[in-house]
Amino acid sequence: MPSYTYHCRDCGATFSDMASIEDRNVPVDCACGSKADRNVEAELAASNGCQAVTDNIRWSRSMGVPPKSLEAYRKRFPNSTYSDDGRLLIKNRKDKLRQVAERDMVELNDKR
Ligand SMILES: [Zn+2]
Repeated sequence: MPSYTYHCRDCGATFSDMASIEDRNVPVDCACGSKADRNVEAELAASNGCQAVTDNIRWSRSMGVPPKSLEAYRKRFPNSTYSDDGRLLIKNRKDKLRQVAERDMVELNDKR
């Protein structure tokens, strides 16, 4: 079976796991007990020989906001960077924890 790269929604861990091609986009269990989603960007980075996979910069859609609310969120969180389609820039795990703490509630929506 091929191996895919997954990124945990809660603890931010990045790891590889085997999955069949049909199931490759199904979230898998992380060691912390949460769910991890397939991370195509990390797979591409790895296949390009980039080593900075585990703590990489990424644009988070799950922590993003609707584009129509962008202006309000940019004012409310001046230390954060949003893309024009509403995704939030996450620089690394520590940065993610800071952004989650600032928001309080956003991460709760991710818990299942
Ligand atoms: Zn985890």
